[in-house]
Amino acid sequence: MHPRWGDISPPTFNLQRCTQCKRCTEECPFGTLDEDEKCTPKPNPGRCRRCGICLGACPERIISYADYSVDMVVRMIKAIEVPDEFEEKPRILILLCENDAYPALELAGFHRLRYSSYVRAISVRCLGAINVVWLSDALARGFDGILLLGCKPGEQTQCHYTRGSDLLATRSENVKQKLKQLALEDERVRVEHVALSDYLTLPALIDGFVKRIEDLGPNPFKES
Ligand code: SF4
Ligand code: SF4
Repeated sequence: MHPRWGDISPPTFNLQRCTQCKRCTEECPFGTLDEDEKCTPKPNPGRCRRCGICLGACPERIISYADYSVDMVVRMIKAIEVPDEFEEKPRILILLCENDAYPALELAGFHRLRYSSYVRAISVRCLGAINVVWLSDALARGFDGILLLGCKPGEQTQCHYTRGSDLLATRSENVKQKLKQLALEDERVRVEHVALSDYLTLPALIDGFVKRIEDLGPNPFKES
C-alpha cells in the first residue's frame, strides 16, 4: 500500500508571502503550476500528484498540505535528542524517501539486520521534497551528520516523481554554502541512492557513514 494511501490533499500556497521566485513552477515535475503575469503560481489541484517537490523548492516555506508542512518536519527534527559532545555519541539524521528508501529500511528491520543506534530517521515524500532549511536547522542544532537516502537519479531514474532526485542535486549548492557558513566539512551531508532491493546492504551503508562522521568528530554546534 502506498504510504500516503487515502491522502488526497493538494498543497496550499500562502501567496501573500510569495516573492515570485518561480522555483515552484520551474521545479514541479508535472507542469502542474501555471503563473499569472507577475509570476505568482496558480495551483491546479486536479493535476497535482502531491509529490511535495514544490514544498521542498520554496525558500519562503509558504507551501504546505493539510497534514504536512516544512514546519512539521522542523518540529520532528527538534524533538530528536542530540547528545552533547561529552557523551561521545554522534547523532545522525537520516531523511529518506518514503517510496523506496524507507521501505528498504523497514525491510532491513523486518529481517533483523542491525545498524548503528546513533541514527534517527524521518521519511519524506521524495528527495526533491527536502527543504534545505531542514538541513541547516539540523546542523545548527548539533546533528553531527545528515544522510539523505532516495531513488536513483539520471537517465535510469527510479524516482516515482521522475526527477526529484535530480532536483536535490541542483539544490546541493545551497547546502554546501550553508556548511561553509557554519565552518563544517562537506562530508557531514551525504546523498546516497538506494532501491528497495538494497535492504541487505543498507545497514553497511549507514554504518559506513556513521564511521566517517565519528572520524570527523563532533559538530561544534552541539548543545551542551
Ligand atoms: S505537489 Fe508536486 S505535482 Fe503538486 S504542484 Fe507541487 S510539485 Fe507539482
Ligand atoms: S517557490 Fe514559494 S516564493 Fe517562490 S514562487 Fe513558488 S510559492 Fe512563491
